[in-house]
Amino acid sequence: MEKKTNHKNNNTNQKVKLNYKKVLLCVACVFVLTAVITCGYVISYMLSFTYGDVAIDLDDYQANQSQTSIIYGYDENGQIFEMQRLHGNENRIYVSLEEISPNIQNAFIALEDARFPKHKGVDWIRFIAVFVKDQLSTGGSSITQQLVKNLTDERDATFVRKFKEICYALNLERNFEKDEILEAYLNTLYLGEGCYGVKTACEVYFGKDPSELNVAEAACIASITKAPYTFNPFVDPAENKKRQERCLDAMLEEGYINKAEYDEAVAYELIFTNSDKYVPDTSDDEEKKPVQEDEGYWSFYVDYIVDCLYDQFMTQYDMTERQATQKIYYGGLKIYAAVDLRVQEILENVYENRKTFPNEAGKEVKVQSAMTIMDYSGRVIAICGQAGEKTENRSLNRASDSPRQPGSSIKPLTAYAPAIEEGIINWSSLILDKAFAYQGKQWPKNYGGSYGSGRSVTVQNALARSLNTVPGRLIYHELGLNKSYRYLTEKFKISTASPENDPAPAPLATGSMHRGITTLEMTAAYAAFGNGGKYYKPYCYYRVTNFDGSTVYFDNTAPEGEQIISRETSEIMCELLQTVTTASEGTGTAYKVKGFPTMAKTGTTTDNYDRWFVGGTPYYVAAVWYGYDLNKSITNTSGNPAGKIFKAVMDDAHSGLATKDFEKSKLVTEKKYCTRTGLLASEKCYSTATGWYSLKKLPATCTSCTGAPPESATDKVQQETTTAAPGSVLDLIGGGLLPGN
Ligand SMILES: [Zn+2]
Repeated sequence: MEKKTNHKNNNTNQKVKLNYKKVLLCVACVFVLTAVITCGYVISYMLSFTYGDVAIDLDDYQANQSQTSIIYGYDENGQIFEMQRLHGNENRIYVSLEEISPNIQNAFIALEDARFPKHKGVDWIRFIAVFVKDQLSTGGSSITQQLVKNLTDERDATFVRKFKEICYALNLERNFEKDEILEAYLNTLYLGEGCYGVKTACEVYFGKDPSELNVAEAACIASITKAPYTFNPFVDPAENKKRQERCLDAMLEEGYINKAEYDEAVAYELIFTNSDKYVPDTSDDEEKKPVQEDEGYWSFYVDYIVDCLYDQFMTQYDMTERQATQKIYYGGLKIYAAVDLRVQEILENVYENRKTFPNEAGKEVKVQSAMTIMDYSGRVIAICGQAGEKTENRSLNRASDSPRQPGSSIKPLTAYAPAIEEGIINWSSLILDKAFAYQGKQWPKNYGGSYGSGRSVTVQNALARSLNTVPGRLIYHELGLNKSYRYLTEKFKISTASPENDPAPAPLATGSMHRGITTLEMTAAYAAFGNGGKYYKPYCYYRVTNFDGSTVYFDNTAPEGEQIISRETSEIMCELLQTVTTASEGTGTAYKVKGFPTMAKTGTTTDNYDRWFVGGTPYYVAAVWYGYDLNKSITNTSGNPAGKIFKAVMDDAHSGLATKDFEKSKLVTEKKYCTRTGLLASEKCYSTATGWYSLKKLPATCTSCTGAPPESATDKVQQETTTAAPGSVLDLIGGGLLPGN
């Protein structure tokens, strides 16, 4: 049995051996075949990739790479200049090869890739030499390979990645010139201190333009590439110097410099911008002069521009906040600011130095203020969101971001303009100055605490004196709360009104809104009283484009206004509001802009928490808020502190401007009216004044005067309205509508 078994085993062994051989052969065949196929595949892939379509488009890249955004302003002669750079961690400004000194180009080539001018994307000799020593070392990479790495941002040390990098590099060299590759390279590499590309690096380290660097400086910059922290000359100048000399050695070796130039460069003392010996360039060449950064904080105007960019990119381009950040700080945007730098400076000067502000030395909490100035077509001329020194970028901008209760400054938007527009009142309509029953109580009180005089007053008089009773009656009894609210939000575009809380008498008539209004929106709303009735959305930049202007993101060069009230209403409102600064009883007479007609409205809120002054001249319209951040009564001041700021800024802003009047159409006319009846004056009216009326809506002529004043009627304004002609007087006792309205 054993034998048999042995025999059988032998047989089996032989069979197994035979099988082994077969299997081995098979495996070997498969292996070789696989290797051949793989190699073939790899080579064919490499070839097809290399000779295939453009894998990385440098033009496309140039358009989309992260670059520093720049805000431009215009000087007094309309000349454009660089106002502010916006950048996050990557500070990068693209420069063409012609703008980069040959010293820099040579230094990088000599140090990083000596055979760059000759190879086809990969320096195989150097690459294989390094590869044998250390397979995945980053050394041995050509400039083209380094560029690929910078552009694809794939940095993991794997064979696949390395292989892909080679394919991309070969492809890149097939499709682009050496100069184009070198230019892209010099604009993408990281050179420490947040600098991407040579432009910002030259500025940061030497305060120079890349066209101005000598050999020694160029070698210093090139030395940083290998390890941007270790060789950063600010961090370790000695390490940088060692590598700079190595770079100079290479430049000498490659024939870029001769021995004399080499010696001179080695001995040259490098002066960095952080050194005491550094003297900033004072040349007049604006183009080349690097901007002195970190000279302080952004102005409120720049803050506002950045806020608007976020808002517009997120709403119009449907970006997330992160994407918007990327675009704003790294998008290479060119932003053409609409600021008037002269006025912005005047405004900041008043606010920063707290001019006209009460002395609050030693007080922990200081009073605050904000102001927005616009022209009449939406351009934000100047903006300031804080009193005192600015201590950070994008700090709280009260002018655009802090809605505050507007007090009486809301009345033109919710009561007077709507009621004129709806044909309910005109300049001289007589309305009872008396509180009425609302929710079981008498309401409202006038400023000072009375429930009104009980007499009828003209619309002009009520507005100039800022009575609360009259707009209260107009809104509650005539317009209706909803219509008044719709004027505020839909016509005058106040976005901070609360639909739950604000369609009510107190918010609409006396401005005690749930949240309030910002000076920005208030200014834009009042602009309609100086431009014939149009609303223009405020804008702070004329245009925003990509780095070469080929893509325009936002364009405000031809702003389009929306006609929100008729030209007649606008012009009558403008005249009415001017009486706030001209009529003897006006609340704003102390704050008329020197030498210019000034429309205005004051505002004060309950407990004196907020003070407002909104006003405009034929040039500018502005709103000022004044108060404490956390509600606290304003003390230590006389008059209207917001009006004082308005006057201080606007007087200065208007100095030197040519005389100008508000434009007036032929749709309105100035007429004498009878102060007893509010109707157009007849020859028999003995007490008259003048007002402005729409030609389409002229009041009737007074027929009740007889030529001689009754002995008792010495008042300009009638005591009772019972004798007034029907349809002419808005006596709203009891809340009834008058006939004809
Ligand atoms: Zn009369």
